[in-house]
Amino acid sequence: MKLSESIIRYPLNKENILLINPITGAIDIAPNKILTQMSEEDKNYLTSRGYFLSGKERLSALKNLQKTYEQHSENVPYRFYILTTLNCNFGCPICYEKKTLENSEATLEKLEKIIQAIHTFQQEHKIEDKKMNLIIFGGEPLCVSDKEIIHYILDSAAQRNWEVIIVTNGSRVKDFIDLFVKYSKTISGFRVTLDGPPEIHDARRPYR
Ligand code: SF4
Repeated sequence: MKLSESIIRYPLNKENILLINPITGAIDIAPNKILTQMSEEDKNYLTSRGYFLSGKERLSALKNLQKTYEQHSENVPYRFYILTTLNCNFGCPICYEKKTLENSEATLEKLEKIIQAIHTFQQEHKIEDKKMNLIIFGGEPLCVSDKEIIHYILDSAAQRNWEVIIVTNGSRVKDFIDLFVKYSKTISGFRVTLDGPPEIHDARRPYR
């Protein structure tokens, strides 16, 4: 008996291979020799992991996968990232946006077009309001010179019953508390980037 061609195989080293069964979701590390000589014991084990399905079992597994996919699609949120600025008040050595930090702030005019484009996308794809999420992102998205930029995004989302998540290094949150309180029903979460305990965080993420 041979493994089906639909099994994904990744050699790990001289002795072992990683097997992935995309139909059942089984993932196993097995000896290489299983590909050429399969003992009864190996066969029983792999059968118990769903590697050898009959035509009927295979069809039933695929139908279940389709059902799971459809249920997942019903609930999956749509996330639209809005980069308010690539500027940042931190100077993390690991930052991959280092080269683009300057002169990158969104204008209200651009934001209006962005919100309109997202709205059009929602209508065209008939997406329910509750699945719509705006992610305020940067650089450090709260390093904008005009507070109205954050206000505009929050207000646009509130008017449409969309939700907003803010990804921030946390350093400027105090300056926006009044807005965050006003739009607390629209903001579903903050993602504050922290690198461990204070001494490690501060060493890795210094102010510029
Ligand atoms: S806080 Fe984020 S955007 Fe700012 S320098 Fe650090 S990694 Fe880059």
